[in-house]
Amino acid sequence: MKKVAVISGDGIGKEIIPPVSKIISSIAPLELIEIEAGYERWEKCGEAISEDDLEIIKSCDAVFKGPTATPVGRGTYRSVNVALRKFLDLYANVRPVKSYGRQFGALSENIDMVIVRENTEGLYSGIEFSFGEVAQSIKIVTRKGSERVIRFAFEFAKSENRRKVTLVHKANILKETCGLFLEVGREISERYPEIEFEDMIVDAAAMKMVRNPESFDVVVTTNLFGDILSDLALGTVGSIALGGSANIGDRSAMFEPVHGSAPDIAGKGIANPTGALISAGMMLKYLGLRNEGERVLKVLEEILRKGEVLTPDLGGNARTDEFLSHFERKLIG
Ligand code: NAD
Repeated sequence: MKKVAVISGDGIGKEIIPPVSKIISSIAPLELIEIEAGYERWEKCGEAISEDDLEIIKSCDAVFKGPTATPVGRGTYRSVNVALRKFLDLYANVRPVKSYGRQFGALSENIDMVIVRENTEGLYSGIEFSFGEVAQSIKIVTRKGSERVIRFAFEFAKSENRRKVTLVHKANILKETCGLFLEVGREISERYPEIEFEDMIVDAAAMKMVRNPESFDVVVTTNLFGDILSDLALGTVGSIALGGSANIGDRSAMFEPVHGSAPDIAGKGIANPTGALISAGMMLKYLGLRNEGERVLKVLEEILRKGEVLTPDLGGNARTDEFLSHFERKLIG
């Protein structure tokens, strides 16, 4: 039995995470442990996640999480995501980007890339100052942090039979931080002669991702670039709702849809659970339940490609529960 901490989070997270957890636990041996965390919890008790819950999470095999809201700008509230990534040292953020057909506005039928983003340092190190009229955010890149995420990208490419790793950087301007990341990438790539390696400057990569998205396979990059490029990449397949993700560390892993809490549709029962289902499939594979995980992903892909049931964001009129009932019937057979 694998222990999974389930955080529904805020907004539409509460509409998609509990039913998706229930469905996957009907095909896999999972013990689900519910944890309350997020902005709505912070509003109630002044704390987004408790220390006790963090300890419970640490004892679990994986975390399955919904989106948590983070208000923009100055103030005391700090993102639960950033806190969990740091607490569990989840250094690799993995986002598959796949085209399910042109009907959702994908730029090509053949987009199938995975973006691996360094998740604990870079410009999101959390070291910020302001002195009156001047504000400063420090970008940290370490050899250790670069080595582990780049090695992860190559190992991932190997295990998933992928052919190429593209390292994205800005080493022409950020000579020290991106320069170190690139230097480490070149060193590590030599240990994987069977995998093609290339490097690309981030602005060129952004343009190529729009003009020729099918040319990318595995992309590895630093925190801020990965954050932006992974949303851009999802734009090439049509919708942010089609994105799932994994945050991987050496001892823990957390799986969550890429999208946010969608306050504009929260409570309406029309949220698309695709990102949560992709994340759930990835989690099952991570937990050693490879067949079950692949089955979740295969059934989902079939439903989307054939357009059997679609939520309004993808041009259909199904409600979340209708989509999930259809999915469950097909999954269980
Ligand atoms: P968002 O992803 O919540 O919404 C952007 C647009 O996409 C909205 O129009 C929304 O209705 C639509 N959308 C998103 N997910 C959908 C789904 N599953 N089905 C159908 N439509 C969907 O982005 P936002 O509005 O910028 O952010 C809202 C809140 O979410 C913010 O507080 C932000 O901090 C938070 N957020 C959290 C995470 C996370 O926890 N991983 C990620 C991104 C944003």
